[in-house]
Amino acid sequence: MKTCFLAFLLAFSTASTARDLTVPLDAEAQAKLTPAEVVQLMKEGNQRFLANTPVERNFLEQIKTTSTGQYPMATVLGCIDSRVPHEIIFDKGVGDIFSVRIAGNFINSDILGSMEFATAVAGSKVIVVLGHTECGAVKGACDNVEMGNLTSTLSNIAPAVYSVGHRHDVRNSKNKAFVDDVTHANVDLTVRNIVERSPILRQLVDDGKLIVIGAMHDVQTGEVTFFDDKKIDKSSL
Ligand SMILES: [Zn+2]
Repeated sequence: MKTCFLAFLLAFSTASTARDLTVPLDAEAQAKLTPAEVVQLMKEGNQRFLANTPVERNFLEQIKTTSTGQYPMATVLGCIDSRVPHEIIFDKGVGDIFSVRIAGNFINSDILGSMEFATAVAGSKVIVVLGHTECGAVKGACDNVEMGNLTSTLSNIAPAVYSVGHRHDVRNSKNKAFVDDVTHANVDLTVRNIVERSPILRQLVDDGKLIVIGAMHDVQTGEVTFFDDKKIDKSSL
């Protein structure tokens, strides 16, 4: 009984816009949320995940509810890594987030186009660029791996490798500090590239309708650390 009551309480957000988290957002609920509140909801979701107290969701019911439309709160750009499932680590359900996944979580014009749809058309308020520890793509880029189409994929991470190379004597994946540095730089560069390469997304930020923020997922603990000091919002443009 006590557990049920706790689960009931946890099903409601502690953010200022308290609502039933078992129900996907509708148009009105999405419109009410500010980008800053969505960042908070993403943080709270990861806190619930870490506490092993996820919201109890009926996914089939959520499929039915969202069948007539979707009103997600956020867009997450993350790696394909099997240890970083967005909905699980942010404790989100069907219809809550747009999920963009590519090895090394970088952008190109196709991904920017997807983000423009996810925000300007479908109304999500935050783009989270989610790097993660022990990233094979980043390590591959650090080692200049060449293999089929992967060569071209990893070349997208090269700017991050070059940007921190001068700080390290050993520039390969055997140097954990180098890999960590590149992983962080790749997230920072991607956050900046998003607003520099997409006038549509930049305009949304300028209008106060979008925050672009980097974050790092620790595959050993499941903890997501948000880079609040480097987020791009209306005040930082
Ligand atoms: Zn990865």
